[in-house]
Formats: sequence, structure tokens, C-alpha cells
Amino acid sequence: MRICSLFGGLAAVLLAGVCWPHDPLPSVVLFAHFETSPDKKALWHMQQELDSILAPAGFKTAWVIAPEIPATCRDCHLTNIRFLGRCDIKRPARELVSANWLGRTITSEGELFPFVEVNCNRIEWLLGIAIEDRQPAWSEQVLGRAFARVLAHELYHVLANTKGHGASLLTRKQLSREALLAQHLSFDMEDIARIRR
Ligand SMILES: [Zn+2]
Repeated sequence: MRICSLFGGLAAVLLAGVCWPHDPLPSVVLFAHFETSPDKKALWHMQQELDSILAPAGFKTAWVIAPEIPATCRDCHLTNIRFLGRCDIKRPARELVSANWLGRTITSEGELFPFVEVNCNRIEWLLGIAIEDRQPAWSEQVLGRAFARVLAHELYHVLANTKGHGASLLTRKQLSREALLAQHLSFDMEDIARIRR
């Protein structure tokens, strides 16, 4: 393991984590905590989708699934991800959940923290009938992809160190249901330029 720091600002803090020898891309280390046990296949699809979204920006992910993560993380060298609610396909959320956000990056006094929350219940509610009463393999894939896209939107904020939004379906202010369900979704060139800056 060796230290690497390729970009300035907050991205440098995140990347100061690990660069595995011989890996072609630097890793964004994601320290993830699930409030309830995730669906393992959906989790696999999420990781695959997130890596395919981040690769053009020059990153891959390294996951650490943790039983606990700290409530705040001002100086940590990881991105903390907290998955809230039910993250499986066994009991899709049929009722409107009160929190209307899909994901968010924590800020304090105007400063972005490498701390992201993903609202599984809201994502499942938004997908709705698209994942209900379908073949489990299909639902797991769609759910995993949707989690990855919400996470990619928030990681855009973290890696580009910006609270602003882009013009792509992935980084515009509102992630739509259509974007979550699309066969393919990626950063556009401007998104990538902001992340690499
Ligand atoms: Zn946003």
C-alpha cells in the first residue's frame, strides 16, 4: 500500500487513503454502513455500476462495509456512506416516505464533508412498480443501479468539492425516476472536468 495524492483540495484528502499497487485507477475508499442488511446482489450491481460511472473520471471504488461509522468526520481519509432505511427488494416501500431526498452530502457552516447519506426507502418508493412483482434478478439489478446513481451524484459533490450542479442527467439538481431507470447513465465531459480539476 502506498500513499498517493493526485488532485488538489478535498479530492486529495479522499485520495490520500490508498492506492493499491498495480491498480490502474486511484481508489475512492467508501466506508459504508447499512441501517438494515442490504440485498447482496443489489449491492453487487451497485458496486459495478458505480465503478463504471467513476472510471471515465479516473477513479475506482474500494469498499469497507462497517457496523458503525462516526456521526461526523471532519478529518477522515475516507468517504463515509450511510444507507438509511430498507435497502432490499423483499418489502418495497409502498407508501410515500416523508423525507423527500434521495441522497445528500453533509455540510456544516458552508463546508462540504466527505459524508454521504443514501435514502433507500425514498429510492424504492420512486422506483415503485418498476421493481415490484418482477423477476428478482431484474429488480436487484435495477435497485442496485439506482443506489449507484444516487451515490454517484453525491460523490460528484464530494470529488469536485462543489455544492453546485451540472447539466447531465446524473448531476442536475433533481435525479429523476427516468434517470434511475435508464439503461445507461454517465457523467458528461463537463462533470468529468470538474472532478479532475
Ligand atoms: Zn446535488
